[in-house]
Amino acid sequence: ALKNYNVAELRRLDVEHHLAAQQDHGMMRDIGGARIITRADGCYIRDAEGNAILDAMAGLWCVQVGYGRKELASAAYEQMLELPYYNTFFKTASPPTIELASKISGLLGGNLSHVFFNSSGSEAIDTIIRMARFYWQAKGQPERHVIIARENGYHGSTIAGASLGGMRAMHAQGGPWVPGIEHIRQPYLFNDGFGEDPRAFGEAAADALEQKILEVGPERVAAFIGEPVQGAGGVIIPPETYWPRVEAICRKYGILLVSDDVICGFGRLGQWFGFQHFGIKPDLVSMAKGMSSGYLPISAVGVADHIVEVLRSVGDDFVHGYTYSGHPTAAAVALKNIEIMENEDLVRRTREDTGPYLARRMAALAEHPLVGEARSLGLIGAVEIVSKKGTNQRFGGSEGPAGRIVRDICITNGLMVRAVRDSLVMSPPLTISHGEIDDIVDIIAKSLDEAA
Ligand code: PLP
Repeated sequence: ALKNYNVAELRRLDVEHHLAAQQDHGMMRDIGGARIITRADGCYIRDAEGNAILDAMAGLWCVQVGYGRKELASAAYEQMLELPYYNTFFKTASPPTIELASKISGLLGGNLSHVFFNSSGSEAIDTIIRMARFYWQAKGQPERHVIIARENGYHGSTIAGASLGGMRAMHAQGGPWVPGIEHIRQPYLFNDGFGEDPRAFGEAAADALEQKILEVGPERVAAFIGEPVQGAGGVIIPPETYWPRVEAICRKYGILLVSDDVICGFGRLGQWFGFQHFGIKPDLVSMAKGMSSGYLPISAVGVADHIVEVLRSVGDDFVHGYTYSGHPTAAAVALKNIEIMENEDLVRRTREDTGPYLARRMAALAEHPLVGEARSLGLIGAVEIVSKKGTNQRFGGSEGPAGRIVRDICITNGLMVRAVRDSLVMSPPLTISHGEIDDIVDIIAKSLDEAA
């Protein structure tokens, strides 16, 4: 039976008692509380007023298999009755935890044969920072502690994740930040290389890594980290020359290559992991979100064999880990989620069917007079809103970035997309149909017309 809610009372309590994540708290009070999302099914969320909204964001880039999956609820229920929780601190582990580690290492392939569990993407990033630095300490090179990341990259909201990320708005609040982190430019062709040759632009953006390594001193650099496609920064798809060159530079200076696959992992780009699309071989890989389709919080770090060997040679504890590392119920849900993805062939479908279909529809959307570029890869995409067709000029202006204005119109028109500056970004469930992709693109076009 569907639950009935007292919506007015919930919104009142929301204002009086709840501080929501990543929000303007004054604005939340002024608008009288959040839109209450009560149910979801397939690719649709439903609010307390009964509006059905097509969720082109898959929650927060995470609900790969769509909403309302009874198999996932059953997996959690059965595991909770069997063993809801136990930890991995006391030379103990539960069956789903071990099975999930084995399953994920198989999907990662290559020499990434071990997995370390956490609950969130941010925690996975903390694990990576500590593990990369500890690796070099254990190898007798403790001065190798600097980690290089990118401007406008997103690696979470803990103090280490926000330090590593290159989000200016985050850096402006709540420092001082974790030391030993450097940032280089992002490979954002539309913004920083408009009209340039993409291949040359990609190489130049990669060369910024080498310049930074030489500036810092190669003997001080532990690792480079990047998202295969920058998600929260605005779905920045690098030219194909970028990642192979970054990999070559990491190898040249012997620094660890880290792929933050929190968004790109679990089929988003049409491969199990985003780094696989770009054909590179990272030493550490973070993943979260799509791992359980967001049904329960769980994340992991894939670890290359040479790092595992060093960890095993230390002769002491690696003093790092969380109460919920390897949580049995979350692991059981993640296993079932991967099983659904395999049974429904969602990764291949994204690569060969729905991803190319979205790309064709985005190409048509790019003709709209307010669209400067509409790009996608697999089932992630962005629409750049411009004030002058044929340029990359933004609106800016007193009403704030155009992305936010058009996003709000989209939501009114029954479509959940996210605004990043003057762009809209999307990352729908991998179960999305062609008809629903048509709806996403049509509602964006209609909302742009209304905004014009
Ligand atoms: N890394 C990337 C690439 C992300 O997109 C995110 C979240 O959006 C994170 C890390 C942090 O994950 P979480 O919000 O689960 O801590």
